[in-house]
Amino acid sequence: MSLIEKLNNKNHSFSLEFSPPKKDMPVDSVYVAMNKLAEFNPDFVSITYGAGGSSRERTVEVASHVNDMGLEAIAHLTCVGADADQINFVLDTLRSKGIHNVLALRGDIPQGMDKSLAFINYKYASDLIIDIKKRSGFVIGAAAYPEGHYEADNLNSDIQYLKQKADVGADFFVTQLCFDKNALVDFFEKVYKAGITPPIATGIMPILNPNQIIRMSLLSACSIPSSLSKIISRYGEDADAFKKAGIEYAVNEITGLIENGISKFHLYVMNKADETIQIIKQSGLA
Ligand code: FAD
Repeated sequence: MSLIEKLNNKNHSFSLEFSPPKKDMPVDSVYVAMNKLAEFNPDFVSITYGAGGSSRERTVEVASHVNDMGLEAIAHLTCVGADADQINFVLDTLRSKGIHNVLALRGDIPQGMDKSLAFINYKYASDLIIDIKKRSGFVIGAAAYPEGHYEADNLNSDIQYLKQKADVGADFFVTQLCFDKNALVDFFEKVYKAGITPPIATGIMPILNPNQIIRMSLLSACSIPSSLSKIISRYGEDADAFKKAGIEYAVNEITGLIENGISKFHLYVMNKADETIQIIKQSGLA
């Protein structure tokens, strides 16, 4: 079954996301985590890309490893700071390694990059999608933001741009982390009303460290519901109790979403295989 058939036809699906280590760091710990999680047979495994191409080789290397493991690999690709030749080079490299699935992203301007060089041939992810679409044979994913992207005026305008990504060729979407189940349910209603039909995998971030959760929420402009802030207040000083409550929170989020008809989940592994396995098992995803 192809990736799109899996996403469209399976009642439930789950996928995983890994971030490769920097060029000079060993990659083994990512592979150890992947090996542990492979037995749960994720529908795809996506590999992040350093904005501005900083981890380009590593993304290709790790995505190839995923392919070699017999899993469906998706390589993230950002266009910030890249011209069309550089993007074509990465796409050629991916194709030569047998990787045909790409998550097409704009990316954020990295620190130190000259802003006038940030958007050379591509201003938005939709421009990148249009270019990738011209080359046949790639399945194209794109990013979605249940609470709106931080630059967007409001969620409705962001959803219009999400529709534009679908209209120019996005085959599926993966959402940014969102800790608020109700916000996710509202988002899906708005998406369906807007006539956006590609499958959407809901990004789930494991809640394992209070500072990391606060930092990620600020970076992504996503809210921390009171039930989660209570966990941070109550267990913030007790690492084990926090981790236990955080896993329970993620499991409740997933099962609550399943009750609301949302059935595709994308787990950000954050190199925490054992905790991700607990979430998969307890929420019945595998
Ligand atoms: P876009 O879709 O281009 O949107 C960017 C902003 O522009 C939004 O506010 C949108 O509303 C607005 N917009 C879009 N189109 C138009 C238009 N036509 N006219 C006016 N406004 C418009 N970053 C990385 O560096 N590496 C990664 O591997 C990575 N993986 C990610 C995975 C997921 C699942 C998600 C959700 C995000 C990921 N990101 C990654 C972060 C992403 O690069 C940033 O969030 C970035 O700021 C926006 O990228 P985008 O592709 O959503 O941009």
